This record gives sequence, C-alpha cells and structure tokens, in this order.
Amino acid sequence: TVDTAKVKAALASKAAQKDKEHPPPPPAQVYEPPSSDRRDGATYQVGKMLGKGGFAVCYEGQIPGFRKRYALKIVKSKMPTKMEQKFQTELQIHSKMRQQNIVQFLRAFSYDNCTYLVLELCPNGSLMDMVKRRKGLTEPEVRFYSVQIAGAIKYMHAKGIIHRDLKMGNIFLDKYMNAKIGDFGLAALLVTGRDMQTIRRTTLCGTPNYIAPEILEKGRKGHDHMVDIWSLGIIMFAMLTSKPPFQSSTTDEIYRRARNRDYEWPSPEGTNKYISQEAKEIVADMLQDADKRPDPDSIVKHDFFYSGYMPELNEITSKFRDYPPD
Ligand code: ADP
Repeated sequence: TVDTAKVKAALASKAAQKDKEHPPPPPAQVYEPPSSDRRDGATYQVGKMLGKGGFAVCYEGQIPGFRKRYALKIVKSKMPTKMEQKFQTELQIHSKMRQQNIVQFLRAFSYDNCTYLVLELCPNGSLMDMVKRRKGLTEPEVRFYSVQIAGAIKYMHAKGIIHRDLKMGNIFLDKYMNAKIGDFGLAALLVTGRDMQTIRRTTLCGTPNYIAPEILEKGRKGHDHMVDIWSLGIIMFAMLTSKPPFQSSTTDEIYRRARNRDYEWPSPEGTNKYISQEAKEIVADMLQDADKRPDPDSIVKHDFFYSGYMPELNEITSKFRDYPPD
C-alpha cells in the first residue's frame, strides 16, 4: 500500500522548498531609489498578486496620482548562483527589447533585499489560460495570434536573440487582448552580429590563419534560432486543439514522440472541431528539421493566413469583453 502520509509530507516539503526561493509578499508601498533618470525616485502602491513563476512573484503596481498600472516582477537579490545567472541574462536581454508584441521592460531597481522589474501590465492572464478556458481557439483567432507571435520572433532574431522558451504560459495578454511575449529567462544571444564584428576586427590585426571560413562568412547564420519556430509550431497546434501535439505522461516519451513527429490532429467527429488543411500544413512545416523550417516572413505568407478570415484587434478585444474570464 502507498503511505499517503509520507507522500503528503514529501509534497509539502517540496512546496516549502519552492517557497523559499520566492521572495516574501512585498510591503504595501515600494520605494524606487533616486537615479540619474528619476532624481526623486518613485513610490509604487502595490496591488493584487498577478502570479508566481519559477523564482519570481508578480504584483500590480501604481504610482499614486497616476492612472497607469504596471506589473512589478520581484525576485530576491540573493539567489542561488544558477538562478542569479538566469536572472541577469533576463534583465540584460529583456531591457533591450522594444516591440509591440513583447512585454515592455520599463525599469529595474533594488529595494528591501529584492530586485524589482517594472514591466508593462498584461492584466488578462496568459495565452495558456485563455486556450484552456476556451478549449481551443477559432482559426481566425489563431491567425491573429500567430501573426503577432511571428512578428515578435522576427524582431528578436533580427536582434540576434533566441528566446528558447516560447510557450503559451509565457505569452501574456494585454488589456486589448494583444499577445505579449514575456519571461526572457532562457533567452540567449546568438553568436553572430556584434560577436562576428569583434571576430573580424580582431582578426584584422592578428593572423587569420586559424579561423574557419564559415566563421567569417558574412550573413552566416546557424540554425539555432529555429528552435523558436519549432515552438511556434507547437503553440499553433495547441491553440487549434487546446493540447500540445506530443503530450505524454513522461518527458522521455514527449521527446521520443517529438523526434518521430508522432502527433495526430483530433478527428472532426470526436471533437466537432474542423481544422483546415492549410493550418495542418503550416504546423507541419514548422515541425520539420531546423534547416527546413520557414522563417517568420515566409510563415505569415503561407496560404493559411489567406484562406480564411483575419480579425482586426477591436473584434478580438470586444469578443473578450462579451465573454470575460471566469
Ligand atoms: P518566472 O521568470 O519566475 O517564471 P514569470 O515571468 O513567468 O516568472 O512570472 C510569473 C507570473 O507572473 C506569470 O505566470 C504571470 O502570471 C505573472 N506575470 C508575469 N509578467 C507579467 C506581466 N507583465 N503582466 C501581468 N502578469 C505577469
């Protein structure tokens, strides 16, 4: 027999462990210390909790006297080394992003042994919450969100950034129901762009004899960034069907199925859900080997985006007003 008490105790201690990594609830008011671009500092009134992540907690925040609300993402200043690294990358990369479908990074400061990120507020939860609640989106909605996400991926890749952790739970919804990519904790700088220039510059004054030709090729690109296109394929499948394609009880099984592209579209009889041939095609294109995956520009030119209705933002916003969450 299973010793339920033991299992419960183990689960409780695991939960307690997780809570240790999270900062305690913030005070009702948080003070941003003075800085060169804000000489008087600022005060944030802390509002409701928005959510908890791997090591951060998020609360609403507002500067008294102003209407604008923000998301305050809070992490402990002293973290285990690995998390500290993850967080530093996140800060550096996220703060350089500026695009309409990426959560806008506004400021960062330290207060009371915690680091605060002031972010654009996305008050309508994540794409995952919505897809679960709605049990899948309509094809027009999937067109709308796929174009938004592809645009953000195009922007990141042009800046030499690979996100590496794109998933519905990391895509938040702003007050109009636009998709905004958040959480750059696993993002990485591609070893091209500036690094390439550095290599070229240094080889000019040193000896180029030992440098492999492909490193110096102009416009050279590895296929590493194509991991984000794979993720978009998974996101599109999940938006259409409400489940990711390789869902299994163990990680090994998910990997095995992914390697074999072992997935099935739900049958229209069982689910009463029609999925067009064009939708199936574009998802299959994105789940090919890295060098065959389409880039964001060719994705949005696919027939899927021209074979049916493409909603305007105000339709998406007002539909949500008709069916609010919960
Ligand atoms: P972690 O980096 O620890 O995984 P996340 O960035 O995922 O943390 O944030 C934790 C939770 O906080 C999210 O799941 C979400 O509920 C909420 N959250 C994060 N960023 C925002 C935002 N900009 N607007 C609203 N809620 C947010």
